[in-house]
Amino acid sequence: MTPCIYCQIIAGESPCHKIYEDDQVLAFLDIHPLNPGHTLLVPKKHAEHLLESSLEDAVALISAAKKIVPAIMASVGAQGCNVTFNIGHSAGQVVFHTHLHVIPRYDNDGYKPWVNSGEETDGLESIAERIRDSM
Ligand code: 5GP
Ligand code: ZN
Repeated sequence: MTPCIYCQIIAGESPCHKIYEDDQVLAFLDIHPLNPGHTLLVPKKHAEHLLESSLEDAVALISAAKKIVPAIMASVGAQGCNVTFNIGHSAGQVVFHTHLHVIPRYDNDGYKPWVNSGEETDGLESIAERIRDSM
């Protein structure tokens, strides 16, 4: 089995540009940044993605993000920021160790925000009902 690159970074077996660490979380710069300051926050405990991590680790990631994001934005002069989990291959997940992307954004950086189809959608209530019933 291929070793997990983030576990290797956490163990100090692979290098990273660390910006924050506590008992549960490590934050380091993404090696292929979408914009300067693009940072990854990872729990030290391996899990494939957010839904497999404990609630404690999820809370620790958000708590660390609340500290780190303002510092990242200030240091690169960002006007906005995407803070996002990719869960699963279809959503663009490539590294299967839970991680939170912090991506500094600028008004004219050329990346497109979500594109809404703008179409009227039938069946919202039945989808809402299915989701409620699945919990
Ligand atoms: P995903 O597409 O899984 O949500 O994001 C994985 C991210 O990990 C990518 O943005 C990629 O650039 C980053 N990444 C992959 N390997 C390494 C590595 O060895 N070091 C660092 N710092 N980032 C990595
Ligand atoms: Zn791992």
